Amino acid sequence: MRQPDRYAVIGYPVKHSFSPFIHGMFAKQTKQNLTYRLLEIAPEQLADQVTDFFADGGKGLNVTIPHKQAVSPLCKYRTPRAEIAGAVNTLAVQPDDELLGDNTDGAGLVLDLLNNLKLKLRESRILLLGAGGAARGVLGPLLEQSPALLHVVNRDATRANALLAEFRRLGELRAGGFGDVQSEPYDLIINATAASLQGEVPPIAAAAVGRQTTCYDMAYSKEDTAFVKWAKEHGAGQAELGWGMLVEQAAEAFLLWRGVRPDTSPVLAAVRSPTPVLQEAPQAPK
Ligand code: NDP
Repeated sequence: MRQPDRYAVIGYPVKHSFSPFIHGMFAKQTKQNLTYRLLEIAPEQLADQVTDFFADGGKGLNVTIPHKQAVSPLCKYRTPRAEIAGAVNTLAVQPDDELLGDNTDGAGLVLDLLNNLKLKLRESRILLLGAGGAARGVLGPLLEQSPALLHVVNRDATRANALLAEFRRLGELRAGGFGDVQSEPYDLIINATAASLQGEVPPIAAAAVGRQTTCYDMAYSKEDTAFVKWAKEHGAGQAELGWGMLVEQAAEAFLLWRGVRPDTSPVLAAVRSPTPVLQEAPQAPK
């Protein structure tokens, strides 16, 4: 039998990643002959180890914190959405053995919002909290949906203003600090800060939340994050964790690699369940 094609997720640290589980389920569902493993790479070894992985016949990599910007120069080709984001979360080897860099984070978020959560983004008022890598990755795809307003706020307002300068040509964008949040409820508030990872809630005015507001935390965990708890306590119509974004961005990467888009609903149900069946993932050779 043909050797399975090899894929991995690279990060530092990377032990926490659900990607092997998700791609394992995708491979089983679509009958693709592949393995997918975790590859911890320290920043100073990034270029050498990525080069070795592909020289050794590897077909593709997912890229997570802290490598999303640093891998970009290793790619001869980049998709338009990776160019706009200024970051790469997926690498795919091309027929000429060069690397293509893509960014599926923004598409993953928008697919989750539109298809899984059935939200209407056109003409909506959106508040985006944070100005780090995750915020940068979703700005272009969110603006493509033609919201009435996309308001980016960050603890360090200069970082939000830098994003405004870079992305304002793409749509109706505003930027500032947390103090600039409007006191009228937004339709959608997306938490793209790392505050949930520290058990904290970004300091936004409660008046930004109303019954029509969906609060979406990009962070995912088996229990409600501090932001999701805060949203429920302040009367948000809906409060969601970032599992759907995680699974949809993975499905976009899988499509790029294998030419087939898996059905994400059973995978989403599995990662959300309290105890995912981890043996679903094919094991990479040691
Ligand atoms: P970065 O480190 O690039 O950016 C962190 C951001 O969070 C900055 O804007 C920073 O503000 C802000 N921040 C950190 N701590 C706090 C705090 N206590 N209060 C308010 N703001 C804070 O991280 P990423 O952008 O890569 O990731 C952000 C989040 O998105 C993480 O929770 C990550 O897990 C999640 N994520 C989820 C994905 C998914 O598929 N669901 C995909 C990618 C990311 P400042 O600039 O002022 O320091």
